[in-house]
Amino acid sequence: MSGAKRHKYIFVIGGVMSGVGKGIATSSIGTILQAKGFSVSLMKIDPYLNVDAGTMNPTEHGEVFVLNSGLETDQDMGNYERFLGRDLLPEDYMTSGMVYQHVIEKERALGYKGKFVEAIPHVTDEIRGRFLRAAEVSQSDISVIEIGGTVGDYQNFLFIEAARVLRLRQPADVVFVLVSYLPVPGTIGEMKTKPTQTAVHQLNSYGIQPDFIIARGPVALDGKRKEKLAVWCNVEAERVISAPDIESIYEVPLNFEKENLGNLLLQALSLKTRRRRDGLEKWKKFVSRAQSAKEEVKIAVIGKYFDTGDFILSDAYISVIEAIKHSAYALGRKPALAWLNAKDFDPKSDDGSGKAMAKEVATLRDFDGVIVPGGFGETGIEGKIKVIQFARENKIPYFGLCYGMQLAVVEFARHVAGLKDANTTEINKETPYPVIDIMPEQKKHMAAGKYGATMRLGAYPCVLKPGTAAFKAYVGSKSGNYKLKTENYKLISERHRHRYEVNPEYIAALEKAGLIFSGASPDGVLMEIAELPRRAHPFFLGTQFHPELQARPLAPHHLFTAFLKAAAERGKKR
Ligand code: GLN
Repeated sequence: MSGAKRHKYIFVIGGVMSGVGKGIATSSIGTILQAKGFSVSLMKIDPYLNVDAGTMNPTEHGEVFVLNSGLETDQDMGNYERFLGRDLLPEDYMTSGMVYQHVIEKERALGYKGKFVEAIPHVTDEIRGRFLRAAEVSQSDISVIEIGGTVGDYQNFLFIEAARVLRLRQPADVVFVLVSYLPVPGTIGEMKTKPTQTAVHQLNSYGIQPDFIIARGPVALDGKRKEKLAVWCNVEAERVISAPDIESIYEVPLNFEKENLGNLLLQALSLKTRRRRDGLEKWKKFVSRAQSAKEEVKIAVIGKYFDTGDFILSDAYISVIEAIKHSAYALGRKPALAWLNAKDFDPKSDDGSGKAMAKEVATLRDFDGVIVPGGFGETGIEGKIKVIQFARENKIPYFGLCYGMQLAVVEFARHVAGLKDANTTEINKETPYPVIDIMPEQKKHMAAGKYGATMRLGAYPCVLKPGTAAFKAYVGSKSGNYKLKTENYKLISERHRHRYEVNPEYIAALEKAGLIFSGASPDGVLMEIAELPRRAHPFFLGTQFHPELQARPLAPHHLFTAFLKAAAERGKKR
């Protein structure tokens, strides 16, 4: 519906401090406007100089979220896709590094025809051009654009400036939303509005008047403070939106709607709802299913990123956690996640005294299912393999994601196929049985020191083998994100992010020993899914791809659902 109609832009900017839920606010605005019948695209701006998020350590910066295109982006993009229920495009993501790289390359190619090249206007023009291009390629009606960082940062100023110029050119089409924070200091016990006033004044000094304030805080905003903010910040009281902390992020769109945010935004953009009903029926059903799920399903997630001080663990695995939730809620279960450190299970781990300190792997019996998620490098590898062996031998449902699949193949090779000391060459280049190995073109990238955007990235097709657990999960289930066409019903598409693959030379030996490769690339060269047959194990399956990246609240991922179903079964018996 864009085309002749003018595209609308909503900029979401943070005030006071970071980490107050700007990403979820942006996602939720997307959900509610979409529910009003508009096609919405969500865009994230990361002001850092990295060209993409691919080279960043998830321990410090959170998960790297990969789009279908293969672009490695910020974890907020994952929330956007989950809240919109659709795939985003590479144009929907922008970093300072990306913008500067383009401007500098253009300058080197005489693209500025001998002019000075300056931050303003050349960089800001490039940014504005990207706002327009994203709107054009997505063919949406409204873009909601989140500018990373907080007002007053040095780094995000040029993006805010580009947004200001866009509003100047198209005043009727641009709205600014400030997501701010209202602290309740323990010593005073009341909510303070001053930091938000200061943030608005700072934004004013940039030439921008926010149209809306989303007032985040530990508790709801009362009428008195709403009025105060309205007067001091020059924003109508009804456009000051109370956004207290709540239990689940998925309730945020519903809370915004209680404050009538959707209609107020449309009004500010001279638009009217296109739906008679509120359009959030399915979302509400999902939220109430989540709220009413009481019976627990206990899942152990074995990772390595757990010993890094203050870092928020859940950020590194956010898509995995959300994927578990979606499927668990669909089954009427409440997920109880335990984070176990892979290193603790390493038979050789010691506390420095030379004494083996390995945690009893048998504690895993207390869980209904075990997940080994994606990862890189050596830390905790032998611990993970130990865990996988225990889950396989004791018939505990096991789900391996990327590294978790590769290590399941290593474990199976060592302990079932008789390939002693089998390994991935990521860990041991001298292994006698390199069952997981790097692909030749990947070797070239690494030799040249090219690490950014060089992995096998993004969506690749995979052909399922009929009769397998994977096939039954995808094809046999009624709901989910795959519209499997009858003529092509075995073909799925999943997202990747890895350098290593199952070594084709060992496929026959592994199959002979009983491992089933239930998904492979259409040319049959790359193994995408490995599993054990149902008669050998209730659920033992690993994927070379990252299914969690395409799991959505209203379309839970088939494989997560199949895993959790098996886990819930075990829970009943346990
Ligand atoms: N380290 C492995 C590889 O590069 C797995 C990567 C991952 O789990 N995302 O192939």
